[in-house]
Amino acid sequence: MVIVNPSLLTVGLISVALLHANFVMSQYDPEGHKGTTGNIKQVFEGRCWDYDVTRYIPDLPRVTASCEELWKLFFKAFSYQPPCAVALENYQPYLRSATQIVPRDKVLFWSGVFSLAHEYGNYGRRYVTLEDTLIGYLANSITWCGQSIDPGYNVTRCPAWDDCPLEAAESFWAGASMTFAQGAKGEVLLMLDGSNPDKAAYRRNSFFGKFELPNLSKEVTKVSVIVSHALDKPKIDVCGAGSLDLLETDVTERGFSYVCHDDPLAVLHLLCADDPSSRECKLAIKHIRGDLDPSKVDPPAFNKIQEFF
Ligand code: NAD
Repeated sequence: MVIVNPSLLTVGLISVALLHANFVMSQYDPEGHKGTTGNIKQVFEGRCWDYDVTRYIPDLPRVTASCEELWKLFFKAFSYQPPCAVALENYQPYLRSATQIVPRDKVLFWSGVFSLAHEYGNYGRRYVTLEDTLIGYLANSITWCGQSIDPGYNVTRCPAWDDCPLEAAESFWAGASMTFAQGAKGEVLLMLDGSNPDKAAYRRNSFFGKFELPNLSKEVTKVSVIVSHALDKPKIDVCGAGSLDLLETDVTERGFSYVCHDDPLAVLHLLCADDPSSRECKLAIKHIRGDLDPSKVDPPAFNKIQEFF
């Protein structure tokens, strides 16, 4: 039987705890920069398998490359390289192997309204965003950057996108955005945030303005824009003025037709689902209480149909 000295055991346990703390601390950067996502290979390949099994969108073609091949191509693009010098071209082999052509009239672009756009698109069922395609799904919300020494990627700290012109993840999203736009056909939809006091709804230097709009394929006919305004907040940008005026010019100069809608009901109802008691969403509450004055509101649609017959 092995007898362990209790003081040695305590020292051992403390060392293990310190080692663990050191490992955890090494993932933390005081300026808030994250390192490469832990277990990135497993996360990437796991998402890839899951995409094929549970996230599969019937209208999108399946990708023939295996998940292992896709990981190798993605990893090769940035690993063992300085994090600030990753050319867009590095991701081309991965982008080529993972591209899916989205059906006509189904492409959805967005700026500043990530959650709302994905809810409205119903995660690929109504409209397809870049993040609903395999290319974007595998990389969305993970962090990565390279380093010259093993393991080839930095687990402690990746630069911010603004820190350098060819940051590893920024180059990826630039290439992915271009590829997505080049495959678009028919009428495309763009959802914008009209309530941000710090950022105009449309900016020529956003990913949409810089990489998607200029790369729309010749098979695109129309750009349809939805400007959404947060409930209970001032409307800063609206269709037909300010940055939306600039957008109309940029779209029509490229030969596409243009239409813009502020807060269509379908989108407003989504916002109300998250915040039903806000001032803008009170109509339903009045309806439940029987407080709606029938003389001041349109009759329900079924009455109109009955009148018609
Ligand atoms: P946006 O301003 O809302 O930026 C989109 C996302 O990019 C932000 O949520 C943020 O995660 C990231 N981002 C942008 N600038 C950044 C910066 N300087 N530092 C760190 N992160 C930054 O809208 P956008 O610029 O027009 O990009 C959205 C469009 O481009 C979409 O149509 C999409 O297809 C594509 N895109 C997607 C992602 C993504 O993370 N899923 C990133 C870039 C581009």
